[in-house]
Amino acid sequence: MAHPLEALLVLQEKDRKIAKLQREIRDIPARKADIEKQLEGAKTRLEASREELKQITSDLKQLEVEDGAHREQIVKYRQQQMEAKTNEQYRAFLHEIAGEEKSISDLEDREIELMEQTEISKKAIAEREAELNEEAGGVAEEQEMLEERLKEVEEAIETLATERGRQVSTLDASLVTKYERLFANKGDFAVVEVEKGHCGGCHMKLPPQVVNDALNPAKLVICNFCGRMLLNR
Ligand SMILES: [Zn+2]
Repeated sequence: MAHPLEALLVLQEKDRKIAKLQREIRDIPARKADIEKQLEGAKTRLEASREELKQITSDLKQLEVEDGAHREQIVKYRQQQMEAKTNEQYRAFLHEIAGEEKSISDLEDREIELMEQTEISKKAIAEREAELNEEAGGVAEEQEMLEERLKEVEEAIETLATERGRQVSTLDASLVTKYERLFANKGDFAVVEVEKGHCGGCHMKLPPQVVNDALNPAKLVICNFCGRMLLNR
């Protein structure tokens, strides 16, 4: 007569495979999040370049406003200059106008600088967009592989569950219930073998009587230390 725990060992092997696959499924969202995180660096760098361009554009607009103000001021001074009563007044306006023209010239120098920076910044944005696209491609590939793996794992679990159901239908229901409770409770093994007089689960040394009883198919022997079912082959 075969020991009834022999069949449970086979069942346990399936349950351990199922549990391992279920753990893999549970880990998938975290793995996906890790993969997505790879993109963050490239996204941040692109965002920084876009911000820089925004700043340069806004500075350029500000320069235009200032340039307009100086030009308006020159028009006003010229009108006032024509109404000047004395040479001294006339020269004073001339001086003011020269000052405004100098300011405009300085603004134009700054404008050229900013326009150069605009070109550099646009180039950087294009490079960083390309970098992001490339990394996104890699990430999409990894995500796709993960999705495929998820499908495989789900299918494997389904197959194992079907086989398991078939096997369980041939076993003693109350023994299966005991085993299932123990398996859920221990999280690794419910049935273990006696290994050189020791429990294969908790590795404690077993009394000779227990070692002997574990050989007997008519007896259900439990380890006194860990509560796992013991099978001696
Ligand atoms: Zn034990």
